[in-house]
Amino acid sequence: MKKKPSSQRKDTRLKAKSEKRSRATFASTARELAEIGRSFYARGWVMGTSGNFSAVISEKPLRLVITSTGLNKGNLAPAHFLEIEGDLKVVKGKGRPSAEALLHLAIVRARGAGAVLHTHSVWSTVLSGAHAAKGGVDVEGYEMLKGLEGVKTHQHREWLPILENSQDMEELARKVSKTLEDQSGIHGFLLREHGLYTWGTNLPEAGRHVEILEFLMEVVVRARGVAVVA
Ligand SMILES: [Zn+2]
Repeated sequence: MKKKPSSQRKDTRLKAKSEKRSRATFASTARELAEIGRSFYARGWVMGTSGNFSAVISEKPLRLVITSTGLNKGNLAPAHFLEIEGDLKVVKGKGRPSAEALLHLAIVRARGAGAVLHTHSVWSTVLSGAHAAKGGVDVEGYEMLKGLEGVKTHQHREWLPILENSQDMEELARKVSKTLEDQSGIHGFLLREHGLYTWGTNLPEAGRHVEILEFLMEVVVRARGVAVVA
Protein backbone atom coordinates (compact mmCIF):
# COMPACT_ATOMS: atom_id res chain seq x y z
CA MET A 1 0.00 0.00 0.00
CA LYS A 2 1.24 3.41 -0.87
CA LYS A 3 2.27 5.37 2.16
CA LYS A 4 0.50 8.69 2.71
CA PRO A 5 2.62 11.83 3.02
CA SER A 6 3.40 12.53 6.67
CA SER A 7 1.26 15.70 6.78
CA GLN A 8 -1.77 13.68 5.64
CA ARG A 9 -1.07 10.98 8.22
CA LYS A 10 -1.00 13.69 10.88
CA ASP A 11 -4.32 15.11 9.64
CA THR A 12 -5.90 11.66 9.79
CA ARG A 13 -4.61 11.11 13.32
CA LEU A 14 -5.88 14.51 14.45
CA LYS A 15 -9.27 13.88 12.86
CA ALA A 16 -9.56 10.51 14.59
CA LYS A 17 -8.53 12.07 17.89
CA SER A 18 -11.03 14.88 17.50
CA GLU A 19 -13.83 12.45 16.61
CA LYS A 20 -12.94 10.32 19.63
CA ARG A 21 -12.95 13.36 21.88
CA SER A 22 -16.27 14.48 20.45
CA ARG A 23 -17.81 11.04 21.05
CA ALA A 24 -16.51 10.95 24.62
CA THR A 25 -17.83 14.45 25.24
CA PHE A 26 -21.26 13.57 23.83
CA ALA A 27 -21.45 10.38 25.91
CA SER A 28 -20.25 11.91 29.16
CA THR A 29 -22.42 15.02 28.73
CA ALA A 30 -25.51 12.93 27.94
CA ARG A 31 -24.80 10.86 31.04
CA GLU A 32 -24.51 13.94 33.25
CA LEU A 33 -27.66 15.51 31.77
CA ALA A 34 -29.60 12.26 32.24
CA GLU A 35 -28.54 12.14 35.88
CA ILE A 36 -29.55 15.72 36.54
CA GLY A 37 -32.90 15.14 34.76
CA ARG A 38 -33.68 12.10 36.92
CA SER A 39 -32.86 14.04 40.07
CA PHE A 40 -35.11 16.95 39.00
CA TYR A 41 -37.93 14.47 38.31
CA ALA A 42 -37.49 12.98 41.76
CA ARG A 43 -37.91 16.47 43.24
CA GLY A 44 -41.14 17.08 41.28
CA TRP A 45 -39.72 19.78 39.02
CA VAL A 46 -40.23 18.04 35.63
CA MET A 47 -43.34 15.88 35.86
CA GLY A 48 -44.88 14.09 32.89
CA THR A 49 -42.73 14.79 29.86
CA SER A 50 -42.05 18.40 30.88
CA GLY A 51 -38.70 20.18 31.04
CA ASN A 52 -35.61 19.99 28.88
CA PHE A 53 -31.88 20.13 29.44
CA SER A 54 -28.90 20.99 27.28
CA ALA A 55 -25.14 21.53 27.40
CA VAL A 56 -22.73 22.93 24.85
CA ILE A 57 -20.03 20.53 23.64
CA SER A 58 -18.62 22.71 20.85
CA GLU A 59 -18.66 26.46 20.43
CA LYS A 60 -17.36 26.67 16.87
CA PRO A 61 -19.31 25.21 15.22
CA LEU A 62 -22.03 25.48 17.86
CA ARG A 63 -23.17 22.06 19.03
CA LEU A 64 -25.40 21.15 21.94
CA VAL A 65 -26.39 17.92 23.61
CA ILE A 66 -30.12 18.22 24.36
CA THR A 67 -33.05 16.07 25.46
CA SER A 68 -35.12 14.47 22.75
CA THR A 69 -38.74 15.61 22.96
CA GLY A 70 -41.65 13.84 24.66
CA LEU A 71 -39.78 11.75 27.21
CA ASN A 72 -40.55 11.08 30.82
CA LYS A 73 -37.63 12.49 32.80
CA GLY A 74 -37.84 9.93 35.61
CA ASN A 75 -35.93 7.31 33.63
CA LEU A 76 -33.77 9.50 31.40
CA ALA A 77 -30.79 7.70 29.91
CA PRO A 78 -27.92 8.89 27.68
CA ALA A 79 -29.72 7.33 24.67
CA HIS A 80 -32.48 9.93 25.10
CA PHE A 81 -30.17 12.77 24.07
CA LEU A 82 -29.39 14.33 20.72
CA GLU A 83 -26.52 16.36 19.43
CA ILE A 84 -27.80 19.35 17.49
CA GLU A 85 -26.23 22.19 15.55
CA GLY A 86 -27.12 25.87 15.89
CA ASP A 87 -29.87 25.51 13.25
CA LEU A 88 -31.52 22.58 15.13
CA LYS A 89 -30.16 19.99 12.72
CA VAL A 90 -29.71 16.67 14.55
CA VAL A 91 -26.22 15.28 13.98
CA LYS A 92 -26.28 12.48 16.55
CA GLY A 93 -28.93 10.41 18.33
CA LYS A 94 -32.48 9.32 17.56
CA GLY A 95 -35.56 11.54 17.83
CA ARG A 96 -36.10 15.24 17.50
CA PRO A 97 -35.44 18.15 19.83
CA SER A 98 -38.24 19.93 21.64
CA ALA A 99 -39.55 23.11 20.01
CA GLU A 100 -38.11 24.82 23.09
CA ALA A 101 -34.59 24.03 21.81
CA LEU A 102 -34.86 27.45 20.14
CA LEU A 103 -34.94 29.03 23.60
CA HIS A 104 -31.87 27.06 24.68
CA LEU A 105 -30.01 28.32 21.62
CA ALA A 106 -31.12 31.91 22.29
CA ILE A 107 -29.76 31.68 25.85
CA VAL A 108 -26.48 30.08 24.77
CA ARG A 109 -25.96 32.80 22.17
CA ALA A 110 -26.92 35.70 24.43
CA ARG A 111 -25.07 34.55 27.54
CA GLY A 112 -22.33 32.28 26.24
CA ALA A 113 -23.87 29.69 28.56
CA GLY A 114 -22.36 26.21 28.75
CA ALA A 115 -25.61 24.63 29.97
CA VAL A 116 -29.31 25.52 30.01
CA LEU A 117 -31.89 23.85 32.25
CA HIS A 118 -35.69 24.21 32.11
CA THR A 119 -38.12 23.02 34.78
CA HIS A 120 -41.93 23.08 35.20
CA SER A 121 -42.33 23.12 38.98
CA VAL A 122 -45.48 23.92 40.94
CA TRP A 123 -43.75 26.92 42.51
CA SER A 124 -42.61 28.50 39.24
CA THR A 125 -46.10 27.94 37.78
CA VAL A 126 -47.85 29.59 40.72
CA LEU A 127 -45.36 32.44 41.12
CA SER A 128 -45.22 33.34 37.43
CA GLY A 129 -49.02 33.45 37.29
CA ALA A 130 -49.33 35.62 40.39
CA HIS A 131 -46.70 38.20 39.30
CA ALA A 132 -47.27 38.20 35.54
CA ALA A 133 -48.94 41.62 35.52
CA LYS A 134 -45.76 43.19 36.93
CA GLY A 135 -43.56 41.50 34.32
CA GLY A 136 -41.43 39.82 36.94
CA VAL A 137 -40.80 39.18 40.59
CA ASP A 138 -38.20 40.57 43.01
CA VAL A 139 -36.49 38.18 45.39
CA GLU A 140 -34.50 39.88 48.11
CA GLY A 141 -32.98 39.32 51.53
CA TYR A 142 -32.48 35.55 51.50
CA GLU A 143 -29.18 33.86 52.34
CA MET A 144 -29.76 31.32 49.54
CA LEU A 145 -29.40 34.11 46.95
CA LYS A 146 -25.64 33.66 47.47
CA GLY A 147 -25.90 30.41 45.52
CA LEU A 148 -26.37 32.46 42.35
CA GLU A 149 -23.12 33.11 40.49
CA GLY A 150 -21.50 36.41 41.47
CA VAL A 151 -23.90 37.14 44.36
CA LYS A 152 -22.01 37.84 47.59
CA THR A 153 -24.69 38.97 50.02
CA HIS A 154 -28.23 38.15 51.12
CA GLN A 155 -29.02 41.83 50.49
CA HIS A 156 -28.88 41.19 46.76
CA ARG A 157 -32.13 41.81 44.87
CA GLU A 158 -32.72 39.24 42.15
CA TRP A 159 -35.23 40.17 39.44
CA LEU A 160 -36.86 37.19 37.77
CA PRO A 161 -38.53 38.43 34.57
CA ILE A 162 -41.81 36.78 33.54
CA LEU A 163 -42.48 36.40 29.83
CA GLU A 164 -45.94 35.65 28.47
CA ASN A 165 -46.14 31.99 27.53
CA SER A 166 -46.52 31.11 23.84
CA GLN A 167 -46.45 28.14 21.51
CA ASP A 168 -44.77 30.28 18.86
CA MET A 169 -41.18 29.42 19.74
CA GLU A 170 -39.58 31.67 17.14
CA GLU A 171 -41.34 34.70 18.55
CA LEU A 172 -40.65 33.59 22.12
CA ALA A 173 -36.95 33.06 21.31
CA ARG A 174 -36.80 36.66 20.05
CA LYS A 175 -38.38 37.88 23.30
CA VAL A 176 -35.93 35.81 25.33
CA SER A 177 -32.98 37.29 23.39
CA LYS A 178 -34.30 40.81 24.01
CA THR A 179 -34.85 40.15 27.72
CA LEU A 180 -31.31 38.81 28.12
CA GLU A 181 -29.92 41.75 26.21
CA ASP A 182 -31.83 44.33 28.30
CA GLN A 183 -31.32 42.71 31.71
CA SER A 184 -27.72 41.68 32.00
CA GLY A 185 -27.71 40.82 35.72
CA ILE A 186 -30.42 38.14 35.74
CA HIS A 187 -29.73 34.45 36.42
CA GLY A 188 -33.00 33.10 35.02
CA PHE A 189 -36.50 33.97 33.81
CA LEU A 190 -39.99 32.53 34.03
CA LEU A 191 -42.52 31.76 31.34
CA ARG A 192 -45.99 32.57 32.65
CA GLU A 193 -47.68 29.56 34.25
CA HIS A 194 -45.16 27.38 32.46
CA GLY A 195 -41.76 27.23 34.17
CA LEU A 196 -38.21 28.34 34.82
CA TYR A 197 -35.23 28.75 32.53
CA THR A 198 -31.78 29.16 34.00
CA TRP A 199 -28.22 28.55 32.82
CA GLY A 200 -24.60 28.46 33.87
CA THR A 201 -21.10 28.50 32.45
CA ASN A 202 -21.19 24.73 32.94
CA LEU A 203 -23.66 22.04 34.00
CA PRO A 204 -22.88 22.05 37.75
CA GLU A 205 -23.42 25.83 37.84
CA ALA A 206 -26.69 25.60 35.89
CA GLY A 207 -27.84 22.77 38.18
CA ARG A 208 -27.03 24.86 41.24
CA HIS A 209 -29.04 27.75 39.80
CA VAL A 210 -32.09 25.50 39.39
CA GLU A 211 -31.78 24.35 42.99
CA ILE A 212 -31.37 27.88 44.32
CA LEU A 213 -34.13 29.44 42.22
CA GLU A 214 -36.58 26.59 42.88
CA PHE A 215 -35.85 26.95 46.61
CA LEU A 216 -36.36 30.73 46.50
CA MET A 217 -39.59 30.50 44.49
CA GLU A 218 -41.03 28.04 47.00
CA VAL A 219 -39.98 30.33 49.87
CA VAL A 220 -41.54 33.39 48.22
CA VAL A 221 -44.87 31.67 47.59
CA ARG A 222 -44.98 30.12 51.06
CA ALA A 223 -43.89 33.33 52.80
CA ARG A 224 -45.92 35.90 50.87
CA GLY A 225 -48.82 33.71 49.77
CA VAL A 226 -50.41 33.96 46.37
CA ALA A 227 -53.47 36.05 47.19
CA VAL A 228 -51.29 38.92 48.47
CA VAL A 229 -49.41 39.35 45.23
CA ALA A 230 -52.22 38.53 42.79
ZN1 LIG B 1 -41.42 23.96 28.96
